[in-house]
Amino acid sequence: MERWRGRLGNSSLHKHGGSSGMSTGIIDANIRGVIRDFTCGYCSAQAGYNIVFADHSELRHTYGDLLEGAAIAVLKCRDCGMLNLLVFSVNEEDYGGSMTEVELDPFITEHPHIIAAGFDKEDGAIAPMWIELMGQYPYGHKLDSIPEIIRRDLQEASNCLAIAASNAAVIMCGRVIERLAVHFGARPDQNRMLGLTLKELENRKLIDEHLLNSFREVKDWRNIGAHPSENDEGIQLTEARKVVEFVYLLIEQVFPRQDARDLANELKQMRLKKETVG
Ligand SMILES: [Zn+2]
Repeated sequence: MERWRGRLGNSSLHKHGGSSGMSTGIIDANIRGVIRDFTCGYCSAQAGYNIVFADHSELRHTYGDLLEGAAIAVLKCRDCGMLNLLVFSVNEEDYGGSMTEVELDPFITEHPHIIAAGFDKEDGAIAPMWIELMGQYPYGHKLDSIPEIIRRDLQEASNCLAIAASNAAVIMCGRVIERLAVHFGARPDQNRMLGLTLKELENRKLIDEHLLNSFREVKDWRNIGAHPSENDEGIQLTEARKVVEFVYLLIEQVFPRQDARDLANELKQMRLKKETVG
């Protein structure tokens, strides 16, 4: 039990408490639990990292008992030594149900993103507070096989996520789609209408239908981000993350990763050699 006590520190973070101002801190185990495969934004190495700094802060609004928080971690790439900044949101949830102290330990172990359990000894209720990755600056992704001009736009989209600029991230995704359309031979529409540029891809049968529909999906999200309408909330961060992730998948589809191609060649050579010997 000593371990979780050390980690959770106190129970002042219970949803009905929290007035003492005391706070448990985000710790290395939280970071490592959330960041399983770190890609350095400078050298693209996945050589691991050292945590140089990690902390979080949160604020409880008097009205509505809402918790608002953020966590920041600075990771040092083990390959190039450059510092990468990771930003997390701090969230809280009324878990519902109850548990005993004995059950709490395995629960925390299974959920490394939880930084405080908000455990109430009296009724066994918990209101866990946890971190969720918003983004990394600069964003790390192996992008060795795509044109530089597309890579820059894509990284800018990802960097927007790190500062919760969700509309901006998705607008950048629209820019990437426009670049992809040009890559496939479309002439950018003079009025800069992405819809017309995609229409040209369709009319001239420059890409298959599946990819075209994917581009249109991104375009529709881009429109939500770019054109405000009355009472609209814009794009939420979780939505923006999915759109950016989707664009990454499309990019990998259009430009297969260089290391995948290298490995394919290597395997082929190995097989040919093996077949010759056999
Ligand atoms: Zn690095």
